[in-house]
Amino acid sequence: EKNIMQKYISQLNEAQQAPVLQKDGPMIVIAGAGSGKTRVLTVRIANLMSQGVDAFNILALTFTNKAAREMKKRIADIVGNNEAKNLWMGTFHSVFAKILRIESEKLGYPSNFTIYDSQDSVRLIGQIIKEMQLDKDIYKPKQVLGRISQYKNSLITVKAYFNNPELQEADAMSKKPRLGEIYQNYVERCFKSGAMDFDDLLLKTNELLTRFPDVLMKYQDRFRYILVDEYQDTNHSQYLIVRALSDRFQNICVVGDDAQSIYAFRGANINNILNFQKDYENVQMYRLEQNYRSSKNIVEAANNVIDNNKTKLDKVVWTANEDGPKIKVHRSLTDGEEGRFVASTIFEEKMQKQMHNNEFAILYRTNAQSRAMEDALRKRDIPYRIYGGLSFYQRKEIKDVLSYLRLVINPKDEEALVRVINYPARGIGDTTVEKLTVAANHYKRSIFEVMEHIDKIDLKLNSGTKAKLQDFVTMIKSFQIINENQDAFYLTDHVTKKTGLIQELKKDGTPEGIARIENIEELLNGIKDFTEGQKEVDGARGALSEFLEDVALATDLDNDTGDDDRVALMTIHLAKGLEFPTVFIVGMEEDLFPSAMSMNTRSELEEERRLFYVALTRAEHQAYLTYAQSRYRWGKLVDSEPSRFVEEINDQYLEYLTPVETNYRYKPSFDADIFGDVDKSKLRLAKPVSGTPPKYITDSDPKPNLNIRKLKPVSGNAPSNGNTNLFDSKLTVGNIVMHERFGKGEVLNLEGAGADKKAEIRFEVGGIKKLLLRFAKLDVI
Ligand code: ATP
Ligand code: MG
Repeated sequence: EKNIMQKYISQLNEAQQAPVLQKDGPMIVIAGAGSGKTRVLTVRIANLMSQGVDAFNILALTFTNKAAREMKKRIADIVGNNEAKNLWMGTFHSVFAKILRIESEKLGYPSNFTIYDSQDSVRLIGQIIKEMQLDKDIYKPKQVLGRISQYKNSLITVKAYFNNPELQEADAMSKKPRLGEIYQNYVERCFKSGAMDFDDLLLKTNELLTRFPDVLMKYQDRFRYILVDEYQDTNHSQYLIVRALSDRFQNICVVGDDAQSIYAFRGANINNILNFQKDYENVQMYRLEQNYRSSKNIVEAANNVIDNNKTKLDKVVWTANEDGPKIKVHRSLTDGEEGRFVASTIFEEKMQKQMHNNEFAILYRTNAQSRAMEDALRKRDIPYRIYGGLSFYQRKEIKDVLSYLRLVINPKDEEALVRVINYPARGIGDTTVEKLTVAANHYKRSIFEVMEHIDKIDLKLNSGTKAKLQDFVTMIKSFQIINENQDAFYLTDHVTKKTGLIQELKKDGTPEGIARIENIEELLNGIKDFTEGQKEVDGARGALSEFLEDVALATDLDNDTGDDDRVALMTIHLAKGLEFPTVFIVGMEEDLFPSAMSMNTRSELEEERRLFYVALTRAEHQAYLTYAQSRYRWGKLVDSEPSRFVEEINDQYLEYLTPVETNYRYKPSFDADIFGDVDKSKLRLAKPVSGTPPKYITDSDPKPNLNIRKLKPVSGNAPSNGNTNLFDSKLTVGNIVMHERFGKGEVLNLEGAGADKKAEIRFEVGGIKKLLLRFAKLDVI
């Protein structure tokens, strides 16, 4: 084992070895993308264990559970599986959910508390808004949840909120004076249901560690070595947990890259990196500079991009890897064409270079962009997988089954109850459920408890309805008895039949209905795996409660077994930490990336740029940047210009697959020093590249369904004899024209008007083509 360890250490460069070999004390590794931070953490953990540190005493926090699993596998390769399996490793949420289960009663929660996913939370907030008779167009449930989430992650409890006039004022200013009340109701309802939401898992952990010094001591003693990956994206709540736990032994190792901090909008706090040195004594700071992931062109281009950010730590990133191909830039007319380009490129590369589907990733700024990509991939029969959509466990039929199971474990769970009390239909109508909810709120009890005592409470229900409610209670209680004697697989199978769920789906003979039944079978397979695995591990029964906890915290990245040969589609936010041989970054357009919603301040723009840095540095060998000149957004065809981020890359690293645009160049003056919190309308008046004033579409033109600002040709950058944008010109049938790529041709016909004006042209080479005049670069000769 010692020899294997030596081998792994010797495979690291000297800079990487240093943080592995320093056994004790606080340390921070700040380094650029692909420099081996995650690898350093992995080898460091293995090395600690080989030096006799007990796996039980090590806590490693990662960005996804998938990352934790992979790390554990690597460590198991070095120290053996039996040792590695005792490591505490996972996301903040999954690790502290486990601890809260053990300690929950101190906080007044049952140990079988439910974890509400964001669907549950949003529904509950919507319900509260309805009960309070507020306008749901002003109080949008998702937004309200976002606000509450911010409060929780900043440790602002309901009490703290009502003690803080500034926060109340801010909410009142944004037309939500009753947000505090919603917050309060939401917290009470969750508590009454024995439920925690995602943010509670951190908030309650903090509460636990501050209110109960003995508990803090216990976990400080337990986690003598703490390691955190992607430290730049920890929020305040997470930061406080790490600080509290590591306070006694101070064996804390965090790794991160300030240039990859991309979750500020969710409360991540870059100061956690900057303050680290102040929080501990004798902090060792390590830097890694060599990138092992990407070819030189990609590394240099990424450096170009991030150089434009002002707020950053000084860092060097270089690579000894080969130059590799240049980054390819592609322009298309529409998003549909962009999709076809990506799909056909993947198709060709697979043919030519014998590549697998899973060596390609398509990254985008917004989820909506996946549709055009999917359409194109499907047409080419290229298998793909979208990450970050609904996780398997959030599909309706699966969530229905899970809701019954949640009730078995915690009958107070209001969201689960409301979901299935009348599904499949059993004659318990909405009015009845409303009456139950009102009564439950009144008695400060759960709905289930009200149902248990329905005989003693006068809700003006007829005896038939009462009997149905009692039947439901009896059914859930019968499941609870089974759960005490059988494993989770047996119970789930029983539940799907006994509740009538399967029969209900069978009635629906459509392909969708059949697919739903298959999904439920898949769920059963998953539970079977889980129970078998559990039995193997520690002779446990395969507890349902543990399965439900895994499920509540699963993201669909976690379901990825990795051996699927599919093209990966995901937002850039999800791609953090991952790597792929070929990466397409699509939708490289102003207002999309950088997002129109993130251009109000320099700091927002810089976060967008870091996002681009993350995207580009996922590529090992080849990166493509693609953009469309127009795309459908919000149901409208919108014209766009190439993203400034493309221009920030030095031309020597780029290869343009389509002619470089000159007419549309949009040189923003954003990076001038005047940038403060300027208002957006001013930014819109970015100057053209040189002094020539932009041409506007004349008012007499028919109004095209396009963003007019984008149509101003900036002539300053065009060659003097160069191409003219002709869509409001005097082109007539019979004109002989010259086209940049197609050469000489004759105008046969003209149609449409304004921005949609097209010319049919017969070229000497290439035949007849129809060109949209606002894009076509033509000269009349
Ligand atoms: P990110 O910032 O994107 O999270 P990172 O700094 O965590 O990146 P890793 O993912 O650990 O970087 O490493 C990037 C790639 O380089 C991985 O494929 C890793 O196996 C490889 N690598 C790291 N260090 C070395 C090394 N010393 N020799 C060879 N390959 C290495
Ligand atoms: Mg990493």
